[in-house]
Amino acid sequence: MAKLYFKFGAMGSSKTAQALITKFNYEERNMKVLLLKPAIDTRDGNDVVKSRIGLKESAVVVGAEEDIGKLYAERYSDCNVIIVDECQFLTPEQVDQLSDIVIERDIPVLCFGLSTDFTTHLFPGSKRLFEIAESISEIKSVCTCGAKATVNARLDDNGRVVTEGSQICIGGNDRYVPMCRRCWLKYKTQTL
Ligand SMILES: [Zn+2]
Repeated sequence: MAKLYFKFGAMGSSKTAQALITKFNYEERNMKVLLLKPAIDTRDGNDVVKSRIGLKESAVVVGAEEDIGKLYAERYSDCNVIIVDECQFLTPEQVDQLSDIVIERDIPVLCFGLSTDFTTHLFPGSKRLFEIAESISEIKSVCTCGAKATVNARLDDNGRVVTEGSQICIGGNDRYVPMCRRCWLKYKTQTL
């Protein structure tokens, strides 16, 4: 039985690399993969999914208004796996649409992304994935102190941890540092 998977991790946990490796593994088994990324993530150009270790692939970009069920039925129904990178930027409705595809078409959908934003609160898409995904797993990354990183700290121009601002900071990937909660609480009051 196919499942909806949510594979979450903090920044720097190699989520994108794992998404691309997973795509490669399916393709090696002669399966056709539809790679999706929400339009809001513009840091690597419009249609490229790129990991820090250099892997990259072109992807189909979905806007927030796009009905993924319809998109799949009309243009990509020959694909037998769907992989989503930066899935935290999906809308809750789009997560439901992906779940419907899993059930109606019996194909696996694997979503890779962050669980929480820089204020430690869930992204709406990630919240919906925690609610309805059938398989949830964590991709771990490490804080500089050695503990597991659970917070995606956002830094300002001076290297200070910021805790206010909009949830999405477009093009600001290098402004984020994975930290454990203890270090995050400490650095909220001092420069790194
Ligand atoms: Zn730490």
